[in-house]
Amino acid sequence: MSDDSQPKPQSENLRIFEQFMKKKGLDTPACPVCKTNEWGVSLVQAATGLDITAMRPTNAQLPCLVITCSNCYYVMQFAWLPIMREASNAG
Ligand SMILES: [Zn+2]
Repeated sequence: MSDDSQPKPQSENLRIFEQFMKKKGLDTPACPVCKTNEWGVSLVQAATGLDITAMRPTNAQLPCLVITCSNCYYVMQFAWLPIMREASNAG
């Protein structure tokens, strides 16, 4: 059993994310606003706002990898658990 609960350095999270993107046949994207490719990452608990199974508001939280452009501060985020699940299943 893998140990996904241990905090990882942010550079390790970025490496896992880049491997995930590569596995999907994608490059880590350039910033859609300023076109640079300098990203900072942080792992946060994000409010989902919606219970998808009951289709009603909720206070539930979801671990997300927040990726912020180091040049213009554009933010994108990805749900983290499926990415970690795939990383754990990789060879
Ligand atoms: Zn930018």
